[in-house]
Amino acid sequence: ATALARAESLITSIPDYPKPGIVFRDITPLLTDAAALRTVVDALIEPFAGRFDAVAGVEARGFLLAGAAAIAANVGLMPIRKAGKLPRPAASMSYDLEYGSAQIEMHDDNAAGARVLLLDDVLATGGTLRAGRDLLQAVGSEVVGIATLLEIDGLGGREALGGDLHSVFHV
Ligand code: IMP
Repeated sequence: ATALARAESLITSIPDYPKPGIVFRDITPLLTDAAALRTVVDALIEPFAGRFDAVAGVEARGFLLAGAAAIAANVGLMPIRKAGKLPRPAASMSYDLEYGSAQIEMHDDNAAGARVLLLDDVLATGGTLRAGRDLLQAVGSEVVGIATLLEIDGLGGREALGGDLHSVFHV
């Protein structure tokens, strides 16, 4: 618990970024600390130990955690990209943002029947992770759980996702 508390203290709050009134949570100072990185990666995957064959991460910060988690858990990694970046035909999923919409894409290699743990850095409204889960299901994977480093409470993300959601830290 002390190691986790120390890791949490490395997350930095940036007021009025990217817009006035928004407090941006910056996890990058935590990532630069070897002990903190190890601690949070272990804490992310621990509740799902033995129940997943792959991790999936949403571009871009989700990739950082997914890469580390894949090695820690000795499983494969399924990258979920922002639209328009993949070299082969890909499955895609659109989702709504506060203003407008966004699209994510992935290849379906090794996706059919895989038990996948879906990861991201920050959970806010849940739109990104819900789209990620829908996309994984569309390529035939079973999403056994969703894990985030930091859940911003009160924005409806937990309600939007339902299911087996684990957040290491809350704010
Ligand atoms: P949501 O789709 O509203 O849940 O927003 C979550 C997505 O936006 C994640 O992919 C996060 O990386 C990003 N995000 C939202 N708020 C923050 C923040 O305060 N810090 C870092 N990333 C954030």
